[in-house]
Amino acid sequence: MSDFAFLSDSFATFAVEMSPANRKYFTEELMRWHSTANTRSLPWKEEKDPYKIWVSEIILQQTRALQGLPYYLKFTEAYPSVHAMAATKDEDAFRLWQGLGYYNRCKNMLATARHISGDLKGKFPDTYEDILTLKGIGPYTAAAIASFAYGLPQAVVDGNVYRVLSRYFGIDTPFDTTGGKKQFAELAKELLDKNNSAAYNQAIMDLGATVCTPGASADCPNCPLQKKCVAYKQDMVALLPVKSKKTEVKKRFFHYLLIQAGNKVWIQKRSGKDIWQNLHEPYLVEAEQPLDSSDLKKHPLFKQLGIADLTPEYEGSLSQRLTHRIIESRFFSLSIPKPVSITGEGSWQPLSSLKKLAFPKTLVSFLEKKLYF
Ligand code: SF4
Repeated sequence: MSDFAFLSDSFATFAVEMSPANRKYFTEELMRWHSTANTRSLPWKEEKDPYKIWVSEIILQQTRALQGLPYYLKFTEAYPSVHAMAATKDEDAFRLWQGLGYYNRCKNMLATARHISGDLKGKFPDTYEDILTLKGIGPYTAAAIASFAYGLPQAVVDGNVYRVLSRYFGIDTPFDTTGGKKQFAELAKELLDKNNSAAYNQAIMDLGATVCTPGASADCPNCPLQKKCVAYKQDMVALLPVKSKKTEVKKRFFHYLLIQAGNKVWIQKRSGKDIWQNLHEPYLVEAEQPLDSSDLKKHPLFKQLGIADLTPEYEGSLSQRLTHRIIESRFFSLSIPKPVSITGEGSWQPLSSLKKLAFPKTLVSFLEKKLYF
């Protein structure tokens, strides 16, 4: 990397100092802050057991630390070892995961636990390359496990790191492009304190999470890097880092029909490559736009139920934002005299068994309201 880079026309043009002295200053100041002023406390910090570090990192993918904390405690208590996790029933693990979202993480975690427990006889891989081959693990998670558990010289690069580096060095290359990813990964590698990779990685992630925070909320007056920070000096904190394009957010409309016959309800399991895979749900009608009770009555389901004169009762709605979509869920209930055959993968379940099944968070709120939990 050359010693100087220049910001593009959209920013004030000036030289960004990439000299070895400035890079050394960055690392030294960061490490000094970590050992003297970093007060962020989380139960997996200082942990050396690769299994527990792996569990924490999988939970923290797409989840904030404070939200992930109770899940980390629940999982490590229920499954204190990789063998214990490998032996669990999928359904029990999904139930513990309930509310955390992105269930593929849990599915991959179980597959990896079984691979390590069985094929690898319980021995967690101990090189970056081998860790990277595990299901559900990308370069960031592999670098975190390699450095935290084994002290290997691997630099983590995540959203916090992009933010700190782009601001401090004044880099306006979009971090979500191939070129941007390469540029930030190379810089992160150069800055890493190779003799103390675990502490360095923890330091930069903590600084990004507690001081150099997103938008205009950064706590620059208390930042150890302020003296030489380009974004701070040029009043560009809120402009960095740069993302290439906004992701299009699609809306989906789910209509859940809770069909009850005596003390039984119709429940199905979500399959196929879609959100909430393997979780349970009542009968679902997905549509291009929101439907009301009279629209729903035209659905072929009502012929199967043999109750053309009954109208589903509207119970309320919930909106949930996922990364690339917004799910608008509308809830309806319907009572029929006795269970009938319904086309689909579901079955009639006693109300008392609902507590044992895993549901998406949106549905838990609804079922709780109906006092089924
Ligand atoms: S001075 Fe502000 S913008 Fe610069 S690294 Fe520190 S917190 Fe981030």
